Amino acid sequence: MFDFFKPTRGRNAVGMSRRLINSKEVDGKTIWQILSELGKTCIVMNVPVSYPPRPIKGALFTGMLTPSVDGDLTYPPDLYQRLKPELGEYCITVNWQGYSDSTVRDFLRDLGHCQKRRTEYCLRLMDEYPDWEFCFPCYTGTDRIQHAMWHYIDPVEREKIKAEGRYEEDIMQMVLDFYRQVDDEIAQLLEKAGPETAVFFVSDHGFGPMRGKFYVNEFLEQQGLLSVKRGKVRQAMVSLLARKVYHKALKTLGQKERLKRIREKAAADRQKEDTRTFYDVFYESIDWENTKVYMASNTEGGLYLNVKGRKLYGQEVDHGIIDPADYLAERQRVMDALRQIKHPDTGESMLSHVMPREEVYSGQYIERAPDIVFFLESGAWVADFSLGKGLYKRADWRTGSGMHRMEGCFLACGAGIAQRDAIETSIINVVPTILAYMGYPIPTDMDGRFIEEAFTDEWKASHEVSYSGDASETGKGWGHGKDVYDDDDEEVLVERLRGLGYID
Ligand SMILES: [Zn+2]
Repeated sequence: MFDFFKPTRGRNAVGMSRRLINSKEVDGKTIWQILSELGKTCIVMNVPVSYPPRPIKGALFTGMLTPSVDGDLTYPPDLYQRLKPELGEYCITVNWQGYSDSTVRDFLRDLGHCQKRRTEYCLRLMDEYPDWEFCFPCYTGTDRIQHAMWHYIDPVEREKIKAEGRYEEDIMQMVLDFYRQVDDEIAQLLEKAGPETAVFFVSDHGFGPMRGKFYVNEFLEQQGLLSVKRGKVRQAMVSLLARKVYHKALKTLGQKERLKRIREKAAADRQKEDTRTFYDVFYESIDWENTKVYMASNTEGGLYLNVKGRKLYGQEVDHGIIDPADYLAERQRVMDALRQIKHPDTGESMLSHVMPREEVYSGQYIERAPDIVFFLESGAWVADFSLGKGLYKRADWRTGSGMHRMEGCFLACGAGIAQRDAIETSIINVVPTILAYMGYPIPTDMDGRFIEEAFTDEWKASHEVSYSGDASETGKGWGHGKDVYDDDDEEVLVERLRGLGYID
């Protein structure tokens, strides 16, 4: 899984599209599945792509990419309905893009409520499953606040908004209060877990300022590497916009039933121009016979070469034009061209990271990865695949003032864990480390390694790290490439990803 969206055969003129991924496509075992099989009770909350919920020994609340809290949210299936009357409505996320500079206080208040509710549910599950041995609450509120409020959080950025007269002290206090609240809630979880419990505190990325969006496909077109059917783009944008406005009007008028019928009809009739998904529009807008490379998602940071015989999208579809024999040369040419992406103010190259896929990924699924992975200014500029929007757009509320960086944080404490100032490690080492620390073998097909430097010499002298299975066991996960969302779910989730700033 390289992204929230995976290439799939499209019900459109070019036969190519993308759809959302789900937990059934995780083709390996999660740590909670491994521990469940070992008979350990687990509590897992809000981990992205855990929908639909799969059996676990213990309790699971699904996370990001869950269509609705009213649907299939938990394992055991009745768990949420049982706890809801007492604990109130659970909240998966707050879509910060749906707010604005004038409703920023509402955003911070709603984010605080969502966060609080998650902790209350987690504390309750620790009571309901007192024999738990692994508890994994995933907090996403810190990510959302950093996207939306980085101009307050980063002291350098804060000085800038003060100079511009955009700073408001009560907003600053609300931002600080959110962090105090998260600290306090973590303290509550640690207190309930008890002093014997080892704690691993991990973030999946860091943050930094967001300067703007760079529309990469427009750039590739200027370089002669991609061709767009302009008329198609204009036509599609108008009809998508009209549909959006119409649906919004129906919603406002309380005509939800009518909207539902329209969506059902749309699902049955994908061939009509006005029922296309935004991915149908995108793939149909590319002139494939004259396109060598393209970007197809904002969240995978990658480019695909249009190579003959790839058949990424199903057996019958092959719009490839690059001869496989020319692959390496063409790829190098594109990587060189990316250096021509210039900062709109300084004229300097914005390309800070560029790598061919084999330097980033390994394993049997590497053929499905984007051919090139790249970042602009370490993430300060976000590469966007939208068509028809010019070359770049500066950051505003809709793009957010903060964006992900590669460096996250890792803290650990507990028996046998060394007291050290700092170590540098990688996120992929965390799960093997936890398994070994709990005394279980690390599956040989799992990426990452045991973080030896985090442990005391005494602990290492009296414990052995072991491995199990052989690498040929990969591909025996929960399922292969099954879609679980209907068109209604998909539309809701795509809107939500848009609300989180992942799609323009
Ligand atoms: Zn984020």
